[in-house]
Amino acid sequence: MQIVDPSYTIQDDLDRASLVVRLEACGRLCYKSEGLIDKNSALPFVKKIAEHGHNSVMEMAVITLGVKCTDGQFDDLLALEPKYLFIDRLDSEVLVTASIRSLRELYQRAGNTAIVQAMVAFMVEGHEYLFEGIWNGGHEQHEESAIEVRKLSLAEVDTLSPALLARHRFCGVLFITNRAVTHEIVRHRSCSFLQESQRYCRYSRDKFNNQVTFIKPMFYEEGTDEYALWQKAMADTEVIYLKLLETSTPQAARTVLPNSCKTEIIAYCNLAEWRHIFNLRTTRAAEPSMREVMIPLAVEMKERYPAVF
Ligand SMILES: Cc1cc2nc3c(=O)[nH]c(=O)nc-3n(C[C@H](O)[C@H](O)[C@H](O)COP(=O)(O)OP(=O)(O)OC[C@H]3O[C@@H](n4cnc5c(N)ncnc54)[C@H](O)[C@@H]3O)c2cc1C
Repeated sequence: MQIVDPSYTIQDDLDRASLVVRLEACGRLCYKSEGLIDKNSALPFVKKIAEHGHNSVMEMAVITLGVKCTDGQFDDLLALEPKYLFIDRLDSEVLVTASIRSLRELYQRAGNTAIVQAMVAFMVEGHEYLFEGIWNGGHEQHEESAIEVRKLSLAEVDTLSPALLARHRFCGVLFITNRAVTHEIVRHRSCSFLQESQRYCRYSRDKFNNQVTFIKPMFYEEGTDEYALWQKAMADTEVIYLKLLETSTPQAARTVLPNSCKTEIIAYCNLAEWRHIFNLRTTRAAEPSMREVMIPLAVEMKERYPAVF
């Protein structure tokens, strides 16, 4: 067995990647199949994911659009009460930040609404694969033509006023933590999550070095009797888990895995939600292993976005 410290990484590299690369990188975390990524793998992976309805993957990339439209067209959008979209009316345009999933579902529900059509038509121009099977190219052109849509770069989003920045700037964080912490993180409903699947990951495989990985508990000092007891419990569990895998599936064998099991999870949300999470998860009332990762993350976020945090 392997014992590792908890950690986190802000996914800056994915912010700079294309939508499809971002979606693949996040999606493969579930299967721990990142080793299969090559220069041609992203598109087929994302198409398959969309087809199979692994919907959370399609939440892992957002786009911020600037939409020039009439007040009536804007009202039509609001009347749809779109879920999971962040919408702000500025003097010159409407700002809309939406994940690929939320745009797909909005279009499926209200594809005849001019502003929805215009936004999705804009997306289809560069990323048709994201709307394959649902995009209806036969819309009447005159409805869309009155609406202008542009994409805001991330650099532009980063220059928005603090209130807008908090709503429109999304940030993904990859945590390597124990299963108890991931159970708590996923209670934050405004986030999108993807996590390592104990149903699909077979820890007896070579890619896991044929062993189970556990997170070092911050409660017990190495060298103490308590730590030794914890370590023995993990070692015994691993033996049983590996034995069960000889005759059963990972989803069956995982029933013996404990809270200390290492889990990778991506939490993706806007800065306003991160602020809310830090307010709840860094105080003395919060669970100590949660604070262990959230406190340094909150410090780093504050350095990056002092106006928001
Ligand atoms: C110290 C501590 C102890 C806890 N103990 C327990 C426990 O013993 N048992 C337990 O089950 N949970 C426990 N929790 C979890 C807690 O109750 C929340 O579920 C969790 O912290 C998520 O926070 P949230 O609901 O504020 O925010 P999020 O889910 O992050 O929501 C963000 C915002 O969305 C809005 N929102 C989302 N969904 C709804 C909705 N359906 N209705 C209204 N508003 C909504 C709210 O405005 C909220 O501010 C604990 C949390 C903490 C921090």
